[in-house]
Amino acid sequence: MKGFDRFRHSKMGMTGAIMLLLAVLVAVFAPLLAPYDPYAPSSPTIEDIYDSPSSAHLLGTDDGGEDVLSGLIYGARVSLIVGFSAAFISLFIGGLIGLVAGYRGGRIGNLLMRFTDFFLVIPDLALQIVIVAIIGQSLRNIIIVIGVLGWTTTARLVRAQTLTVRERKFVLRARAVGGSDFYILRRHVLPQVVPLMLANTVLVISLAILSESTLAFIGLGDPTLISWGQMLNFAFSRGAVSAGAWWALIPPGVAIVFVVLATTLLGNALEEQFNPRLGRHYLEKEVPPTPEPGSPPAQPEVLMSIRDLKVSFEVGQAQLMAADGVSIDIHRGEAVGLVGESGCGKTTTMLGALRLLPPGGSIAGGQVWFDGCDLVALTPDELRPLRWRQFSMVFQGAMNALNPVKTVGWQIAEAIRQHDSQVSQDEAEVQAGRLLETVGIGHERAGDYPHEFSGGMRQRAMIALALACGPGLVVADEPTTALDVMIQAQIMDLLASLRAELNMSLVLITHDLGVVAETCDRAVVMYGGVVVEQGTIAEVFRDPQHPYTQLLLAAFPDIDQPERLLVSIPGTPPRLDEIPPGCRFAPRCPQAFDRCHTERPPCYPLGPRRESACFLVERTWQGVSSG
Ligand code: SF4
Repeated sequence: MKGFDRFRHSKMGMTGAIMLLLAVLVAVFAPLLAPYDPYAPSSPTIEDIYDSPSSAHLLGTDDGGEDVLSGLIYGARVSLIVGFSAAFISLFIGGLIGLVAGYRGGRIGNLLMRFTDFFLVIPDLALQIVIVAIIGQSLRNIIIVIGVLGWTTTARLVRAQTLTVRERKFVLRARAVGGSDFYILRRHVLPQVVPLMLANTVLVISLAILSESTLAFIGLGDPTLISWGQMLNFAFSRGAVSAGAWWALIPPGVAIVFVVLATTLLGNALEEQFNPRLGRHYLEKEVPPTPEPGSPPAQPEVLMSIRDLKVSFEVGQAQLMAADGVSIDIHRGEAVGLVGESGCGKTTTMLGALRLLPPGGSIAGGQVWFDGCDLVALTPDELRPLRWRQFSMVFQGAMNALNPVKTVGWQIAEAIRQHDSQVSQDEAEVQAGRLLETVGIGHERAGDYPHEFSGGMRQRAMIALALACGPGLVVADEPTTALDVMIQAQIMDLLASLRAELNMSLVLITHDLGVVAETCDRAVVMYGGVVVEQGTIAEVFRDPQHPYTQLLLAAFPDIDQPERLLVSIPGTPPRLDEIPPGCRFAPRCPQAFDRCHTERPPCYPLGPRRESACFLVERTWQGVSSG
């Protein structure tokens, strides 16, 4: 229902809907609206032929002396009947083929898609002309021909959506509990696909109306009915142009354009709401959250100050808090490691801080001060000049973050030119070559495509891309994922040396404690969407205060103590919709006591930029604060 709610606020969609409703009303009430009945027998005189507009005939008369306005009103019936009926046939055939191809996949899916491709490459209009000419020009035949030949785009669209839906967890669960294919398709897949099918159907209606008008215009319409295409055909073939009877030509043309425009506007608006591929994505315009009052940090050495940041995700009717009151300061030139198990909120926190949240995510509160301004309060237009110049990101999975059909050099140059239009493409590509040299790739490789790079080189290229505009802060999200150990070490060395050389700050998001210990100055440990401990590397690694940090370190091999047994942390991190009421770590904490299950521990400051969110440090904290 959310899509329909959004649709109600779409000017394009509402305009299309009103225009289409108008056309439908005209078609339905044609006998009441038309001043004359164009199907009634008449005996026109020579003066009646192509009579110009007058009070008796507001749009004049046609070659048969009939009232053009009445023909126009009755013509709406044929156009809309053909449009809606043919679209229904296309929807049925395309929907069925798309659903089966997407859900079954494999050989059946391939076979159905090749069949679809076959129909897709045949020119529709040529085939429609041939078939209608052979089987006859009745309205029923025209509807069937247009409907049967117009299902291909629906099939492809439905297949793509079904492929996505069938991989969702709820479909796997339905299969696991024994649901039949038909049941799963009907109860789980179809409801996810229908809105998109409806949006596509409106566009198919518009194509069907155009096809009918074209067939009628070339003389293949139903000769017993009045349609707009037929009116145009008669006007052109029976001397309207030479008689200067513009009224016989323009009104039917405008009527066709009006209805096609209405259905196109409506269909595009619906598709925008329901087609996930046209949905919002990273960096797209978003409504900035309401800023909270606050002032920037007084210490000039603080580059970024994340304060009480809350990031929520809309799941069904619920808003789930993926980061809940996170506060982190990043100093100039400092490297901060954000660690924790998968799903603890590390990436979400930084995506929220940089205003790069994916669809469904939003900032529910807090501030992100960056060099004096609150990023949370900025509009997308205000944020744009800051991106990449002030802060950039090395995204996880270099292959996915690089466009496969553009050269690496071009992509780096693109980032440079986005922020400095004065730089020519050639100049930007020279700079891109230099950046590639900086990360250990020869500038001559700038013309290569991402697939021509090895995994390590792609990651280096991503780092070069992140450095393109000389940002003060680089956020690297699991920059060594899927790389072998040697390459991992090289990438981390590269990041460390670049940070020192360029005096930039670095936030390293990782689950690898070893990497944090080697590369960072500080460590921030997150669990269940909150910061549970932070301090310098020495403080956190040598004297961990939070039981979660202690267990994380115990689970990590130590090269100095090869004989030490590794432990695993029992249980799993909490789901966002099942966050425990007290300490989030309580269900897994070996030191938990009663209070832990009912009360949320605050972050106890234990020293300058050192804190832990555990009741066990309360005494230490009291000692620190009283001393
Ligand atoms: S507050 Fe309690 S449950 Fe939470 S980490 Fe500390 S001891 Fe464990």
